[in-house]
Amino acid sequence: MEKMPVGVFTSIGAGLGASLDAVKQLGVRTVHLHAPHGDMRSPEKAADIRRQFAEAGITVTVVFCGFEGESYETIPSVQQTIGLVPRATRAVRLKETLEISDFAKVLGVDIVAMHLGAVPEDPKDPEYPGIVEATRLVCEYCQRNGQRFHLETGQETADALLHFIGAVGRDNLAINFDPANMILYGAGEPISALKKVSQYVKSVHCKDAKNTRGPGQKWYEDCALGTGDVGMETFIRTLKGLGYEGPLTIEREYSADQAGDLAEAVRLLERLRGV
Ligand code: MG
Repeated sequence: MEKMPVGVFTSIGAGLGASLDAVKQLGVRTVHLHAPHGDMRSPEKAADIRRQFAEAGITVTVVFCGFEGESYETIPSVQQTIGLVPRATRAVRLKETLEISDFAKVLGVDIVAMHLGAVPEDPKDPEYPGIVEATRLVCEYCQRNGQRFHLETGQETADALLHFIGAVGRDNLAINFDPANMILYGAGEPISALKKVSQYVKSVHCKDAKNTRGPGQKWYEDCALGTGDVGMETFIRTLKGLGYEGPLTIEREYSADQAGDLAEAVRLLERLRGV
């Protein structure tokens, strides 16, 4: 594969990514795919999805997990509903995660990723060991499927993330670094965070966000790539300096013109990755 190919976050039925048709229009050759709902993940449906992407000349590099009942509406709702952290839904979601790993395997994809949820900053928190154990189980299952498991960067600081990865202690656990999330959650300046966790960064989202919110703007709303406070040129230059060669996968969620913003973002990244 070429170095740092541009990609787009894509959805089939579930999630906020672009459609396969939109990706074809953009002409990019790699995508992250949000896992579709369960009825679309049978081996037969997975084989069909694999064929659709292959025929379009598009490689799925990461399959992202998402679950029913997740809400990003407020920071407390994130803490209560996202990923494998909430105890009440952990067992059922764990099972679904393993199914998504199998789905990804049929797709020929060797990375499964997830926003794991609000891992407590304090390792002595009584919830911590259960979250570590659930993550180990996912890692071990992915290992048997020949996959890595990537944690989406979210509200935790770089230091907390490093501690958590150390506590899980599995070689196939890595990071999908999303610089905009660091800003949105107030979890630290993205570039210095990237440098801190760089040894684990095996995939990225190219997403942007502003440090300040506009009137009526939700806390989670991103902005068009290159118009926020990540500093996209510095982000790409830093990735290069760290030896990162994987896809640059654009994520653009809350836009009145997703297609237009994606096209502009592709142009921006094609320029920056060549500099
Ligand atoms: Mg992301």
